[in-house]
Amino acid sequence: MDKITNCEGCSACCQVMLIRFSGVLPEDYKKARGIRTIGPFMALSAPCPQLKDGKCGIYPTRPRMCGAFPIGGLDCVLCRKLGEEEAGKKKGVGGE
Ligand code: SF4
Ligand code: SF4
Repeated sequence: MDKITNCEGCSACCQVMLIRFSGVLPEDYKKARGIRTIGPFMALSAPCPQLKDGKCGIYPTRPRMCGAFPIGGLDCVLCRKLGEEEAGKKKGVGGE
């Protein structure tokens, strides 16, 4: 995959809540419906309510953590991969 350098046409990290654990994920989380675990990450499909037509509706005043999200970093790549999988499921291809 080419290095990701901009967010054009992507809002994957506004649609998935990604939480990184430093230790072992609790078994309860692994069993919970709607929560996926990927390595040290827990991922929950939870679109941000500020997302309007694929864009941030409060972009100039978005939370600092949104502005600090590292484009092209591991979290970004993972969000995009999960987003592509979700899109694939909706089209009836791929998925688990
Ligand atoms: S997932 Fe990455 S490329 Fe997509 S909007 Fe977020 S930071 Fe940008
Ligand atoms: S506030 Fe804006 S940038 Fe932050 S997650 Fe929501 S839609 Fe995305």
